[in-house]
Amino acid sequence: MKIASDASVQIPENDAFAALSYKNDTLCFEGIAIEKIAEEVGTPFYVYSQLAIEATYGRCAAAFASIKAGIFYAMKANHNQSVLRIFARNGAGVDIVSIGEALRAIAAGIPAERIIFSGAGKTADELAQAVDLGLYQINVESSNELELLNQIAISRGKKAPVAIRINPDVDAKTMSKTTTGKKGNKFGIDIDVALPVYKRAYSLPGINLVGVAVHIGSQLTSVEPFRLAYAKTVDFLKMLRSQGMSIPRLDLGGGLGIWYRDEQVEDFSAWADVVAEATQGLGVEISIAPGRALIAHAGILVSSVVHVKQGSDRRFLVLDAGMNDLARPSLYGAYHHIIPVDKPASGAPYAPVDIVGPVCESTDAFALARPMPELKDGDLVAFLSAGAYGASMSSAYNSRPLVPEVLIDNDRYAVVRPRPTVQSMIDAEPQAYWLDEDADASRLAEAV
Ligand SMILES: *Cc1c(COP(=O)(O)O)cnc(C)c1O
Repeated sequence: MKIASDASVQIPENDAFAALSYKNDTLCFEGIAIEKIAEEVGTPFYVYSQLAIEATYGRCAAAFASIKAGIFYAMKANHNQSVLRIFARNGAGVDIVSIGEALRAIAAGIPAERIIFSGAGKTADELAQAVDLGLYQINVESSNELELLNQIAISRGKKAPVAIRINPDVDAKTMSKTTTGKKGNKFGIDIDVALPVYKRAYSLPGINLVGVAVHIGSQLTSVEPFRLAYAKTVDFLKMLRSQGMSIPRLDLGGGLGIWYRDEQVEDFSAWADVVAEATQGLGVEISIAPGRALIAHAGILVSSVVHVKQGSDRRFLVLDAGMNDLARPSLYGAYHHIIPVDKPASGAPYAPVDIVGPVCESTDAFALARPMPELKDGDLVAFLSAGAYGASMSSAYNSRPLVPEVLIDNDRYAVVRPRPTVQSMIDAEPQAYWLDEDADASRLAEAV
């Protein structure tokens, strides 16, 4: 099968990709040619556009300005220090899921008073550090966690600011692996049994009950599930107030989906409208925690073709990027646009190829039967929409060093996470003393 052209290998016509363009037939991000970075840094690498991050954040902030919602970027989507610093400078707080993330955020200039701690399994040690750091809010997900946090806060003579995450039992209509707000998910407390937990929290001396939190899933392409979840959440908040609990905050989580392929998606304004409608006249401080929608399109993963391989019935493009570098396709069957860095000539023929990585796992495939123009060994390709859950999810499986990250600002760029050397990976693993023959030899020498 050969076709004349295919939309999946073009830069999508969408504002979110405005920083990407072909200039002189080569792919550029802002003012920098991708092949120039590839020459210096080697492939694979992630590259982010500061312009794209700021433009997207600006759209989000503008959409939520009239309801004065606090934006807490869900930094698990991308926790690079420079990326965090851009969000910090633009006034964002962060939503974190581990104390490691808190320390990263603080190091990047985000103060503790702008950090919300979410997560289904915070340890006692993490809760203690959260109290010590003075985080803005801790989102509690179970009765046991509430009791533990109360004890920890009392032992430090403090009151922990707490929102309790409810599970509203709403189907986010996203893929099952990213649904979190349906009965049977591990997240939050079922809305119909949450009242006693709130009452208990209200009475505990170590707890300052400040809010109701909800987060129903990720990559929601429609805002309708938000509408349903928020209506239930607001009803619940009103009920708490009718019981005499003055709850000043509402944390509405994240989950707004983005365009990866050809999804019909809704934008920040549509989401903000739903929030405004649900919370009208409520007199409550609102926070939101988008991750993906703020950063996905601002990043790409660049990789080289290692081999073009003709199998008996299919053709493979073997790349130097693998599932350890970008896990989403193998983890969720997720789709990423993959475009050549050298612009294909107009009218060039396209043929289906399986685009795979070098990792020793059959699931290490990025796309099957994807129409691509003719590529040869050494050619560069770019995975679009790779800024979220890309580098932050990567691993060193197969002793493949973590992929470097590069940030572009207009016509300058900087490596904001270098590729580790394999030697540094080896050095990070001290030998068990009884296996260390060099040490044995020196002990023997000492003994003689
Ligand atoms: C992951 C997560 C988010 C962000 O989700 P996105 O789909 O990236 O917007 C927000 N809140 C909580 C509690 C999360 O776990």
